Amino acid sequence: MIVIMKMNVTADDIAAVQTYIESHGLQTHLSTGQERTIIGVVGDKTAITDGNILRLPGVERVMPVSRPFKLASRDFHPENTIVTVGEHRIGDDQITVIAGPCSVESREQLFAIAASVKEMGAHLLRGGAFKPRTSPYSFQGLGEEGLHILAEARDRTGLPIVTEVMSPEELPIIEKYADVLQIGARNMQNYALLKAVGRSHLPVLLKRGMMSTIEELLMSAEYILAHGNSQVMLCERGIRTFETYTRNTLDINAVPVLKELTHLPVIVDPSHATGKWNLVKSASLAGIAAGADGLIIEVHHQPELAMSDGAQSLKPRRFGELMERLSRIASAVDRTVQ
Ligand code: PEP
Ligand code: MN
Repeated sequence: MIVIMKMNVTADDIAAVQTYIESHGLQTHLSTGQERTIIGVVGDKTAITDGNILRLPGVERVMPVSRPFKLASRDFHPENTIVTVGEHRIGDDQITVIAGPCSVESREQLFAIAASVKEMGAHLLRGGAFKPRTSPYSFQGLGEEGLHILAEARDRTGLPIVTEVMSPEELPIIEKYADVLQIGARNMQNYALLKAVGRSHLPVLLKRGMMSTIEELLMSAEYILAHGNSQVMLCERGIRTFETYTRNTLDINAVPVLKELTHLPVIVDPSHATGKWNLVKSASLAGIAAGADGLIIEVHHQPELAMSDGAQSLKPRRFGELMERLSRIASAVDRTVQ
């Protein structure tokens, strides 16, 4: 249920509604829009009646939210959520580009890639230090050393860093270094992890599971929001289908569907969606044309030597070409890149 307050109500009116609802054992979440405040109510609603809430000063309407996700829905928060990372605003008119290697492999590797993507206009730097690998014998990431290297790359370039967290136990150490916490596709329904990042002060990039529906993605976002973290971005990274030519199938439909259902920014990952570097440009342009707020792209200066995902990694020069094309598509959909 959501409680829609009248325009220009006082802070006391809002607090009184929250106190009333919370005194009945329910939880409230505030959505403070430019025009009005909406109070999201979650919990067992049998204890309260619409009529009693409507009698409180400043209340305009009480509305049920029929979808299973409440805080993630546009009903609760009609305006787009803007996620702020340093001075960068994600979900605004400007398209956000996150770029970097799949894994942090060494200082030399990350510094070379970070310098190139910065020069070509990336806004955030990605790189995995704790890697979810299908095989236990594959490179698992440099761990804390990788986080140190990421932090050094941030100092050198000024680019905030996005890195994956795979378990609640790892969170405290990753929080010391990261600017954005990535939840990987394989962990989209790791509820202990979702609750833990829900209590974090850092923004979260939540990737769609390769076999998850859009609604399941939104329910996972709901976990993070319900635990107090409103800074959540959703990432479409391709789903598993019968097609084998590509690694996954980019569900381009998910972009406009998500933009309609939720206020959270939507990021497209063309690298994992296609698995092939030569398809990354087209998938990126399609994502932005479809209304995505940003891209997360794997870039490697020596893809043939990469310790993970080399086949889908762009060389810096190709990434630069993509950035140029991107600004033209962005302006066609009334967005900017820089
Ligand atoms: C990654 O970003 O390198 C990654 C492992 O992505 P996903 O979780 O989408 O497979
Ligand atoms: Mn990868």
